[in-house]
Amino acid sequence: MASQKIRVRFAPSPTGPLHMGGVRTALFNYLFAKKHGGDFILRIEDTDSNRYVAGAEEYIIEALNWCGITFDEGVGIGGEHAPYRQSERKDIYVKYAQQLIDSGNAYYAFDSAEELDALRKEKEAKGEAFIYNFATRSSLKNSLSLSKEEVEKLKSERNDWVIRFKIPENETIKMHDIIREEVVVNSSTLDDKVLWKKADELPTYHLANIVDDHLMEISHVIRGEEWLPSLPLHVLLYRAFGWQNSMPQFAHLSLLLKPDGKGKLSKRDGDKMGFPVFPLQWKSPEGEFSRGYREDGYFPEAFVNLLALLGWNPGTEQEKFSIEELVQLFDLKRVIKSGARFNPDKAKWFNQQYLKEKSNADLAHLYLPILAEKNVKTTTEYVEKVCGMIKERATFVCDFWNLSSYFFVAPNAYDEKVVQKYWKPETPAMLQNLTAQLKSVSPFEKEKTEHAVHEWIAASGLKMGEVMNTFRLCLVGASMGPSVFDIVEMLGVNEAVKRIETAIEAIK
Ligand code: GLU
Repeated sequence: MASQKIRVRFAPSPTGPLHMGGVRTALFNYLFAKKHGGDFILRIEDTDSNRYVAGAEEYIIEALNWCGITFDEGVGIGGEHAPYRQSERKDIYVKYAQQLIDSGNAYYAFDSAEELDALRKEKEAKGEAFIYNFATRSSLKNSLSLSKEEVEKLKSERNDWVIRFKIPENETIKMHDIIREEVVVNSSTLDDKVLWKKADELPTYHLANIVDDHLMEISHVIRGEEWLPSLPLHVLLYRAFGWQNSMPQFAHLSLLLKPDGKGKLSKRDGDKMGFPVFPLQWKSPEGEFSRGYREDGYFPEAFVNLLALLGWNPGTEQEKFSIEELVQLFDLKRVIKSGARFNPDKAKWFNQQYLKEKSNADLAHLYLPILAEKNVKTTTEYVEKVCGMIKERATFVCDFWNLSSYFFVAPNAYDEKVVQKYWKPETPAMLQNLTAQLKSVSPFEKEKTEHAVHEWIAASGLKMGEVMNTFRLCLVGASMGPSVFDIVEMLGVNEAVKRIETAIEAIK
């Protein structure tokens, strides 16, 4: 076991878009595999045809590609253990279900859905729960209670029978979880889960999952804590197959919690508070829309970074990590047992950190299409300079237009508050004077303009605040942006003068 190769898998069911918690599970598997020089496998668990949603598998793959979470084997890539889509492995599972029947660990059950439903209702009426287990199975319709002949007859006549796992009675099952350490459950609390269904000749999740983890030589199962209640059954299945010595190690990741820490993070929280819970946007076959991190303007590096810190930390103050650094530092032992609270403001903060480190050229590349949509004629060089001046103030590239439109189009409105505060009866004459000063600067460069304007302010005994605030108001329309002299240099003298004259006309 010590020299066993690390092999982990992400095994989503294509039942809808991948929640960010699911992406985190994939990420932790990826980090663990890469850290240990192991393999990472993508397996699609699509044996539940009732829950299958068209487009979900493509969505999952696209989302993981966007995040840069890559696979060594799996759907779309192939590999030694192909196929990796469970619906294509149908024939494999029958054999294993049969093996459990033959060894006495499973049995055929013929109870119809209606019969089971009636039993459930009957118990419910008494405030109890119906469990198909050691206590009830002998009074139900199965190969443990019926004669061989009856079983053969029902098997050939009907096509709604199933194979159930025979959970032992009153046995203490001790399990080890890397994150939770010892987990102990009494087998009498478990029910005889269905493993295989005649109706569609398909296994259920439990059988397919264990068989595939075994055949694919999975060394560690890292998955969400919603699967922890299935662990005793899985451990019993490994034992029933005689695979206990090669059973993978388990690590169940805690839930992502709502921003207030009360309960599981859901799409509804995102809709209510204005943040995505899915990596990419998604439109369900019924037409329901969900926003995505990608479309909301997050960089994949930022998204991966924020996910990594939901439930894990390296034990230092560092928060910003590249995926390569995460691979170096990741350790399952540092994954927390309690739920990880999601903070949407922190998510934005991460994006901001990545945005301001991008080169002006990269940002211009992203901003140019937005400018083209606004019919702005400009040059790449100019846009790069603009990006350099505003990137410290932006969280997303889509903020750029609001932060910088005045570099491309003259303002058509002026902030009332600034007007109230600084625009005096003598302001127009003062600004006229300023235009004369600007026209005399040559070459029209930032330092030269700044020098000339400051000299003129000092010589004419004007107030710096009044001049600069109204000057900025004329150029920008508001009291925002980088230094006024950076802005005038970008605009050029003619445009600057024109904007001052327009403002004098407009603000009366
Ligand atoms: N198909 C399961 C899911 O959708 C996989 C659980 C597991 O990793 O064992 O989450």
